[in-house]
Amino acid sequence: MFSNFRNSFYLKILFVIISITYSKNLSSQTSRQVDELGMIPIFTYHKITSKDNLMNRKPSSLLKDLDYLRNNKYYLLTVEELYKGYINAPLGYIPAVLSFDDSHISQFKYLSSNKIDPNSAIGILEDYKKKYPTFRITAIFFVTPCQRGQNELFGQKQWINKKLSFLLENSYEIGNHSCSHPNYQTTSIERIQSDLNLSQTKINTYLPNFQYTSLATPYGSYPKRKLWPLLAKSSSKKHSYRHKLIFSYSNRLSLSPFAKNYNLFRVSRLHGFEEALQSYRQKVSSGEWKPFISDGNPNLVTIPKSRKDELKIRSNKNLILAPNSKDYYPWKLY
Ligand SMILES: [Zn+2]
Repeated sequence: MFSNFRNSFYLKILFVIISITYSKNLSSQTSRQVDELGMIPIFTYHKITSKDNLMNRKPSSLLKDLDYLRNNKYYLLTVEELYKGYINAPLGYIPAVLSFDDSHISQFKYLSSNKIDPNSAIGILEDYKKKYPTFRITAIFFVTPCQRGQNELFGQKQWINKKLSFLLENSYEIGNHSCSHPNYQTTSIERIQSDLNLSQTKINTYLPNFQYTSLATPYGSYPKRKLWPLLAKSSSKKHSYRHKLIFSYSNRLSLSPFAKNYNLFRVSRLHGFEEALQSYRQKVSSGEWKPFISDGNPNLVTIPKSRKDELKIRSNKNLILAPNSKDYYPWKLY
């Protein structure tokens, strides 16, 4: 009897020790509170050059940005995943998207037919992939096929085919950034539509079966609100473009794809230059900006009770519909 008592006593002590250790681990893993209605940063870069200013980022600065994301538990998402609401970030991680506009040569340059310039964005991203294989690398390149010179599908004409195929074969995405980069505030909707269609036609001369699935509007400019659906899909049969998500350039965080006010036609992106990035980091660390914090389960949407009213209207009482209107996820309050 005494030995039974002693055994159960030691078992209890052991149980307490295990519980403390477990809860400590859990709290260090989840030092960020899960919130899948938090905001998602979509960083936007233009040229990668020897300067750091509004339109340029130095290779060393881009590297620093990647280190920040890796060291602070970020998980890079594809635009396709954002659209599906499929967020496979580990518990406590923040999903983010990297985007590059204007298809400039500094984003993807070959030094010779088989050597990528290590100082071009793709060179930096590919090296990073090798150095940190557990950090997921993906990015979307919003291209302008009618631009000439260094912005014509990354500049080097003889390698356009090779570059576009490389992107698709190496876990990158290609998005439409219009064909000739017009300002949508001052261009008629008819011209905007034929320019978008031309961009689709031009990219098909290199990638015959490729269809854009997203658009980043030039300068982040927009026509009148009632015309936004025509940026996604033209009413004319002559036009073949189809954009499921449309991105602006407003230097704001994107809403969660499960938020009531998420708008497929106007998904906000952040600027990717020094001051904007510093301000982002400061606002997140001070708690002023509340990012999306993953629950670690891509098939479940977990949100704090206090934010229930911000959740998108449910398709039925236990399921929430993804922006693509196809995928449903169960959701959980805590
Ligand atoms: Zn642009």
